[in-house]
Amino acid sequence: TRYVYRFGGGVSDGGKGDKNLLGGKGANLDGMASIGLPVPPGFTISTPVCALYYDAGESFPESLKAEVSGGIAHIEGITGKKFGDAADPLLVSVRSGARVSMPGMMDTVLNLGLNDATVAGLAQVSGDARFAWDSYRRFIQMYSDVVLELDHGRFEEALEIAKEDRGYHLDTEMGAADWQALVGEYKALVQELWGKPFPQDVHDQLWGAIGAVFGSWQSERAKVYRRLNDIPGDWGTAVNVQAMVFGNMGDTSATGVAFTRDPATGEAAYYGEFLINAQGEDVVAGIRTPQYLTKAARERAGAKPLSMEEAMPETYAELAAVFDLLERHYRDMQDIEFTVQQGKLWMLQTRSGKRTAKAALKIAVDMASEGLITQEEAVLRVDPAALDQLLHPTLDPKAPRDVLTKGLPASPGAASGKVVFDADTAEKWAAAGEKVILVRVETSPEDIHGMHAAQGILTARGGMTSHAAVVARGMGRPCVSGAGSLAIDGKAGILRVAGREVKQGDIVTIDGATGEVMLGAVPTVQPELAGDFGTLMLWADAKRRLKVRTNAETPLDCRTAREFGAEGIGLCRTEHMFFDSARITAVRQMILAEDEAGRRAALAKLLPEQRSDFVQIFEVMAGLPCTIRLLDPPLHEFLPHEEAEFAEVAAAAGLDVATLKRRAAELHEFNPMLGHRGCRLGVSYPEIYEMQARAIFEAACQVAEETGAAPVPEVMIPLVATRKELELMKAVVDKAAQAVFAEKGRTIEYLVGTMIELPRAALRAGEIAEVGEFFSFGTNDLTQTTLGVSRDDAGSFLTTYVEKGIYARDPFVSIDVEGVGELIKLAADRGRATRPGIKLGICGEHGGDPASIAFCESVDLDYVSASPYRVPIARLAAAQAAL
Ligand code: ADP
Ligand code: MG
Ligand code: MG
Repeated sequence: TRYVYRFGGGVSDGGKGDKNLLGGKGANLDGMASIGLPVPPGFTISTPVCALYYDAGESFPESLKAEVSGGIAHIEGITGKKFGDAADPLLVSVRSGARVSMPGMMDTVLNLGLNDATVAGLAQVSGDARFAWDSYRRFIQMYSDVVLELDHGRFEEALEIAKEDRGYHLDTEMGAADWQALVGEYKALVQELWGKPFPQDVHDQLWGAIGAVFGSWQSERAKVYRRLNDIPGDWGTAVNVQAMVFGNMGDTSATGVAFTRDPATGEAAYYGEFLINAQGEDVVAGIRTPQYLTKAARERAGAKPLSMEEAMPETYAELAAVFDLLERHYRDMQDIEFTVQQGKLWMLQTRSGKRTAKAALKIAVDMASEGLITQEEAVLRVDPAALDQLLHPTLDPKAPRDVLTKGLPASPGAASGKVVFDADTAEKWAAAGEKVILVRVETSPEDIHGMHAAQGILTARGGMTSHAAVVARGMGRPCVSGAGSLAIDGKAGILRVAGREVKQGDIVTIDGATGEVMLGAVPTVQPELAGDFGTLMLWADAKRRLKVRTNAETPLDCRTAREFGAEGIGLCRTEHMFFDSARITAVRQMILAEDEAGRRAALAKLLPEQRSDFVQIFEVMAGLPCTIRLLDPPLHEFLPHEEAEFAEVAAAAGLDVATLKRRAAELHEFNPMLGHRGCRLGVSYPEIYEMQARAIFEAACQVAEETGAAPVPEVMIPLVATRKELELMKAVVDKAAQAVFAEKGRTIEYLVGTMIELPRAALRAGEIAEVGEFFSFGTNDLTQTTLGVSRDDAGSFLTTYVEKGIYARDPFVSIDVEGVGELIKLAADRGRATRPGIKLGICGEHGGDPASIAFCESVDLDYVSASPYRVPIARLAAAQAAL
């Protein structure tokens, strides 16, 4: 097998640019080379080598050495320079590159190939001794840090002292001799810290760096990132070795990063930052303030330093042409890294750019309208989960705000929370249910877990392409970066700004769309649902087969869900209606009654209340199917606790407190989840279900009368295990329906069905379907009962289970396809065999989870039902599942 793939100078061994084989960076370097873009020549060591390296106890396959030599020869052939040649040395960068971009991997090493001999050659050929010695000291510093993993603080300290000794303030004041002297000190430091001299053999340097890239795949940081982002450990990383180009050879040289469209808003305008006479990651490191790419952006920001468009018009024009070419080639918005060496443009990286949900929507809709992609592709391009960001409220523009300062609008959305100054505290407080804003001078990959736990991120340093900004956008967290006027003292837990102090635990609000930072919590407003969002949703609706309903029991939730496009109610939980303070006494009276007569007296009080609930809901859902679940929870959930509550019930029921307490004690259960609940209540006390059914049909008749649009009630019996249970309960419902229809002189179309939430019901679905007219898979309980895991108690061990790979994902979040999924499939098949065309839906939390929705599509359910805010997510996910 081949391990090394060359690119550049008319060669592109990678063929179709396979990311799995070459990693993202390598595949696209190869891709750019293949379409004739100026890419410094190089080669990629493929990702499978990473696994081979670990399998062989951290050593390389036999044939790799020769292949790498061939790769170096390829670069030498094109550049005319020789690796390790003291007269005209070839320098290379060594870059990691997994399939997806991954913080935590080894940082890039630049200028590799410099040593005591080649530095002189570089000085000679470039005619710039200062540049050569500066490059050498940068190389030693980087190599010592990322490959040898020595304490980089010591190197920075040495540089600071060197400047101080000479009375300099800036690196730019250091001359050739100064850098040369520092190189001497750096080498001594390496000897001291590493116990060996800095490697002078360029091949040792190269293999050291290659080993370090593969070694970093198993670093803690990389593992944490993989866990948070569901990236499999066996993918491995590739290594890219590439000829150096220099952005630090004077004022006609530069380095920069750019997006082909605005990654925050999606606007079709080039967007980026660059630095003249700079190398590598100087732009993102925040050492110097970068300049704007375009004149328009510079003017909008009111900044002085010339944009690239103004400072280097010809190279800029060339770059802009490359942007267009790349967008057409990859058919997506690109995130690009480039360097200009003495007026010549070089492309160093391109990839699909990370973007906010808002930008993702706009770019998908725009690109489809531009004809660059199809409508199907546009629908597939937007991550349903990311819509969440758009559906939630933003800051009320009219609300008063106490603005502390302003930074860069790095990732949109608004968030309020308590200030914390480190990632561990953020994680701890968030776990305790607090909303927090993580405030840092700048963030690094070590902060990822805290960023994840926080509602929002605020940094004092760093631009729009800083670590904080990029990661926050990817996670969908609001972020304000580079708020330079913040003086952060994390140790003391204090932040000073504009003469004021904010302490750890104080509440602030950040607006990632404007960059504003405010003291206190600022109220929010509802999002805009028209525009690009509306367009994409229409396209999605045209592609999906699954219907989308909502889980809702208040008129407000029903309205929200309808605005979000719900096509009915999949689950209306009637018990929630009973907790209302005005009703709870009657509910308690019903529960604690000693006989049917006592219960009926209490139920008579509840009937009009329950009817008016349904009237309101049916009015909102006019003409749409509404699945209403009859009473489900264990009765003891409603029991009185306090003396006053007992007294109130006693008065209402005309019973004494002692009797009530005895009755309450009788109702105690050891395992209520598996106790007297669901249809078992209806079997014991049919009058409860009778009252609820009556309320449903009276309300339906009333709404039909008033509006002419009759709802379609689907009366759902919970926790059925046997055919007989359902048969008994259906008789109660049907009898109530007939009675109401006779009284009102009209009939309403309705169905009686059941929730499938017990394994026995799934197994016996064939005979249950003889009675039930629909099934709704109650996957919350079905997961609990199938796995034998209580959702409320799973927290203490389920994370470990997921970490150890026992379950791929939390089975309460994403359906356990192999187990619970098999029961669903079997029940669906058996139900359909008895009653062809039986209506099938899902109403657990899973109804809003894209992966679970894909499963529902695969077993041909009729609809999914999700909470109101997840309805659009479900619509999009259903379309994607169908495509
Ligand atoms: P990351 O994955 O962190 O973006 P890269 O491998 O892209 O790391 O390297 C970071 C930066 O180093 C690049 O943006 C570029 O500025 C610089 N760099 C990498 N390779 C070269 C090279 N061959 N010549 C000049 N600069 C390079
Ligand atoms: Mg990096
Ligand atoms: Mg890069």
